[in-house]
Amino acid sequence: MSSISKYFSGLFTGIKSLLVGMSVTWKELWTKKVTQQYPENRDTLVISDRFRAELTMPHDENNEHACTACGICEMNCPNGTITVNFKMVETEDGKKKKVLDTYKWDLGMCTFCNLCVLTCPSDAIKFENTFENAVFTRDKLKQQLNHEGSKMREKKKVERPAAPVAKAPVVSEVKVETPAAEVKPAVVDTEVKAVVPEVEVKPTVVDAEVKVELPIEEAVKADKEIEAESKDETTEK
Ligand code: SF4
Ligand code: SF4
Repeated sequence: MSSISKYFSGLFTGIKSLLVGMSVTWKELWTKKVTQQYPENRDTLVISDRFRAELTMPHDENNEHACTACGICEMNCPNGTITVNFKMVETEDGKKKKVLDTYKWDLGMCTFCNLCVLTCPSDAIKFENTFENAVFTRDKLKQQLNHEGSKMREKKKVERPAAPVAKAPVVSEVKVETPAAEVKPAVVDTEVKAVVPEVEVKPTVVDAEVKVELPIEEAVKADKEIEAESKDETTEK
């Protein structure tokens, strides 16, 4: 690139940058102003409600607070800004009870992380947006949040209304109609016929002629004996 083209390139880049800057200035000239003229406007100064400036422990008109001295906020504080001191007292019914003695908070140590407020189970502490906390010595940044002579607010017992007793409807007479049972006639003196299968009786063979075949010699001998016997019988007659 020649020296003349470099010159004009730089010139146009400078003009473009100048126009961008002038456009931002022109735009901001007409937008709503947010700059606060502090401390001249102290009476009209508006600070966001969410601004965390000072940890406080709200007390009611009876000088009572909600802190139970459980120490959870002290345990959750990442840099040891809170110190909870408690004492044991005896209640009317003779039981020992832990109550808050002093609640110390060091503004000079606080990082305004809000962990103490978020973890408090009793909603006993909260951050205020009162930001004018400048002092001349560091010791003055250490504060006691519970008021002198204050005490813990007793929880009111919520009396629950008695549950309405549901009245059962009065039934004068209950008729239960049962369907007529189907009566089957009893079977009396039924004739039981046993079917006996016919037994095939085979005729017994009586006086069956038995032919015994003897050998010839014995047969002849037997014939002779029979003839002799028959002759004897005829002679005797
Ligand atoms: S401020 Fe809350 S968390 Fe901290 S000791 Fe009191 S009741 Fe417990
Ligand atoms: S805001 Fe954070 S640092 Fe400050 S006291 Fe609470 S827990 Fe500790």
